[in-house]
Amino acid sequence: MTSPGVSLRVGVASDVGLVREHNEDAAFAAGSVYLVADGMGGHAAGEVASAVTAEALGELAGRADLTLADLVAQVGEANERILARSAAAPEQRGMATTLTGIAVVRVGPVAHWAVFNLGDSRVYRYADEELRQITVDHSEVQELVDAGLLTPAEASVHPLRHTVTRSLGREYLPPVDTWVFPPTPGERFVVCSDGLTGEVSDARIAEILAVMREPQAAAEALVAEALAAGGRDNVTVIILAVAPPTASDVEENTVPRPVAPAP
Ligand code: MN
Repeated sequence: MTSPGVSLRVGVASDVGLVREHNEDAAFAAGSVYLVADGMGGHAAGEVASAVTAEALGELAGRADLTLADLVAQVGEANERILARSAAAPEQRGMATTLTGIAVVRVGPVAHWAVFNLGDSRVYRYADEELRQITVDHSEVQELVDAGLLTPAEASVHPLRHTVTRSLGREYLPPVDTWVFPPTPGERFVVCSDGLTGEVSDARIAEILAVMREPQAAAEALVAEALAAGGRDNVTVIILAVAPPTASDVEENTVPRPVAPAP
């Protein structure tokens, strides 16, 4: 990171879990792009869908002039590549993947975060000792929660909790949810597959982040926690940390400052 006052540190950890035979999660974490994709489909096709998606979005990582429109267009490109692979390999037909993450985009001359989501992988923001989920799950149970028919606690154990309502790999690509906001020194982000959130409560994730300030150690600790809780799914965690404020930041931090990609 070359911009004054702001630097990024990242940690990544992934594990197949204790039940599944393949790890169908994929991650990309470098430069301007930090994402997790959770693949679905038999005959190892889920691994293909998530890897194709991570690779496509990863191609944007070196772009210092990335815009939100570029990011959304590349999600469409990833979808096209999955469909092309499905058409070429009948045994992979129907493969799909979630996609969520955070990217550095330009809003005019100023760098902002863009969080993006399709499916039930998640991005959280941790700041001021508080963990907040930014993304909204595209799942059957989230629809029921939104409709007031289920409480979040009931949703967390509901049999339909793994049924996603939006994903890549369909002929019609559903809308990508996005959130754009300026960076803040000291904030951290968790990008994760449902292998973490299906096993570990938000409260426990916050407890671990409170004591583990180093991103790689925190990512590994969260994966270990998911395994200790049963590890019934593939689990992937990215921790992205914006360096804490320095004395000069506190004086100068009146406007969002540009953020450049990590080297
Ligand atoms: Mn999963």
